[in-house]
Amino acid sequence: MIVEILAWATLGAMAGSPAIQLAPNVWRIPTVGRSLINSFAFVEPDGGVTVVDCGESRASPRIVAGLAAIGKSPADVTHILLTHVHSDHAGGASALVQATGADVAVHADEAELAEAGRTPTMNPATLGGRLLNRLASGRFEPVAVARRLVDGDVLDVGGGLRIVHTPGHSPGHVSLLHEPTRVLITGDALFNVLGVRWPLRIFCGDFALTQRTAHVLGELEYDVAAFTHGPEITDGARERVRRFLSRERVTGRDQ
Ligand SMILES: [Zn+2]
Repeated sequence: MIVEILAWATLGAMAGSPAIQLAPNVWRIPTVGRSLINSFAFVEPDGGVTVVDCGESRASPRIVAGLAAIGKSPADVTHILLTHVHSDHAGGASALVQATGADVAVHADEAELAEAGRTPTMNPATLGGRLLNRLASGRFEPVAVARRLVDGDVLDVGGGLRIVHTPGHSPGHVSLLHEPTRVLITGDALFNVLGVRWPLRIFCGDFALTQRTAHVLGELEYDVAAFTHGPEITDGARERVRRFLSRERVTGRDQ
């Protein structure tokens, strides 16, 4: 546990590059530390940009700096996509919408929460989760949702971005598969902090469901696994994810 906290602190404290290239026209933009909280940018041939996740409420300047590092300005951003509406992913959305004029897409099961500025329920099976649910901390600046996503949608982003619904961490949580470059963005379905691991249990509305739905991430085809928390895996990514899931006996079958 101590080691874990130190690793998080280190990832959070270290400043890194404002934008890291994952594949042609696909970038990771850290908003806290080197990779503690990540957003992503997809650049289109016409110069337009889709930003995935917006970090916490003060993250917008880091995203704008990341965009500047790849030669893009806020005016280039046409779409924003949220993997889910926890405040470290949706907290900066309103500010980024104001800076860019972009529209926002989120899974249908979290659209109302996004528009109300409320985060999904934390894990009621844990003391920490119950405490968080009682505090008024689960709020962020609301954003209007232009598109409600569902599992299997393939968005016209970077030539094809597939929505993979991975509920559990939150009801409308999605992972994203960029088919042309074989980059998977797990979102918070899996973390890569000191290795591939589960998201922190207290933040998962339904931890058992988180574990059950993660099995799809072992079945998709990709070469790079990118995480909203932690650095990407570029070497043997699919095997590393599959090894983790098999070690955890994640089969997708009801147990
Ligand atoms: Zn989350």
